[in-house]
Amino acid sequence: MAALPSGPRVLLLGAGLAGGLLALALAERGARVTLAGEPAASEGATAVSYGGVPWWGGGADPLGQLQTQAPSAWGALEARHGPLGWRQAELWLHGSRPAGDRLALPHAPVGSWLTASEAREREPLLALPEPLGVLVLPYARIDPLTLLASLERTLPALGVTRCGPLEGPGALDQARRHHDHTVVCAGAHGVRLLQHLGLPLPSGLDHSWAGVLQHRGSALAAERIVMPLQPLRPSREREEVGPTAVLDAGLAPAPGGGVLLGQSSWFGLPLAPPAANADRALLDAAARALLGPQGAAGDGWTLVQRPVAFCRDGRPLVGPIPGAEGVSLFCGFAGPFALVPVLAPLLAEALVSGGLAPLADLGVLPSRLPAR
Ligand SMILES: Cc1cc2nc3c(=O)[nH]c(=O)nc-3n(C[C@H](O)[C@H](O)[C@H](O)COP(=O)(O)OP(=O)(O)OC[C@H]3O[C@@H](n4cnc5c(N)ncnc54)[C@H](O)[C@@H]3O)c2cc1C
Repeated sequence: MAALPSGPRVLLLGAGLAGGLLALALAERGARVTLAGEPAASEGATAVSYGGVPWWGGGADPLGQLQTQAPSAWGALEARHGPLGWRQAELWLHGSRPAGDRLALPHAPVGSWLTASEAREREPLLALPEPLGVLVLPYARIDPLTLLASLERTLPALGVTRCGPLEGPGALDQARRHHDHTVVCAGAHGVRLLQHLGLPLPSGLDHSWAGVLQHRGSALAAERIVMPLQPLRPSREREEVGPTAVLDAGLAPAPGGGVLLGQSSWFGLPLAPPAANADRALLDAAARALLGPQGAAGDGWTLVQRPVAFCRDGRPLVGPIPGAEGVSLFCGFAGPFALVPVLAPLLAEALVSGGLAPLADLGVLPSRLPAR
């Protein structure tokens, strides 16, 4: 009979990508884990994500170096726990041809250029006007529904206890008292949970509302994600002020089949989505830009809106909240499908064995930011 875990009792609030992989890492280290959140995280950002793994998308600093290890981290997880949704893919970045067919990122590979008509030959859905084209780069994606379904099967087998979302100050406080550590890994809902727990909010943590249109009857010709060469969302996330909504026209395989047409990002809204007709109007512009005049996003396209957390300095929040005994954060990632698999083991190690030095060296501790 397998020995029961005897490590610290850890409560994870949020069962999406972050909570799921942190639960795995903690259970592997003998922690007694309770994972709170709805089954298969159907309400979260993870379930509708493109799932792209931007392992080469970080900077030259230690965090960017660590991010390059995402493919081997996913490979090791799949070797231990079975398929988690990893797919080789291509990233197609549409726009004007960049010098040297490369991006200004230290770890980015050199790409290859396709003209608009060459791109259409390979991907009949994509109708870009000349002289635009696409820069093709190696990529990978995690199919989010495969990941979430696999975690729902794997985690109980590792001794992780599952329960539904914990809401309200009373229930949250009581649950927190029954555990040695509580980790808020609820994406954009983290701010609300911290408020309910009566804890300080890190000044840079915020969220935007992402909008995509999903079509079950269409499919991309291959496993690929189409995005702009110069996306607007990352720079808007770093500014306190700016447009309320930005559009990064893109296409991706839809979780569970079909195609996603995206992505709108709405800023400065509370935890309620933007008006559906305004979001659809914005996404219609993406349809015209990518699918051509006949591709207007009318019949058969369903609007999906989800809040996505980010941190204004572009770095995630990983580790204890100053002044909040026993409560940590694991949220605010830029490129979570590359960062979460490499950071979850470091946070799990810190919670089970102590020692924050590896997280401090990466510059991800919440203590770097003042409370709001
Ligand atoms: C359209 C779209 C495309 C994207 N594309 C990419 C991409 O290509 N690559 C990439 O890296 N990232 C991408 N992202 C971002 C990425 O999907 C998210 O940042 C990531 O999935 C967030 O994971 P999470 O676990 O932190 O949060 P979530 O997946 O949002 O999970 C948080 C969970 O916490 C739950 N919760 C809320 N309240 C409570 C409570 N009281 N108790 C317990 N649980 C609670 C929520 O219901 C939710 O299920 C995309 C996002 C969107 C929307």
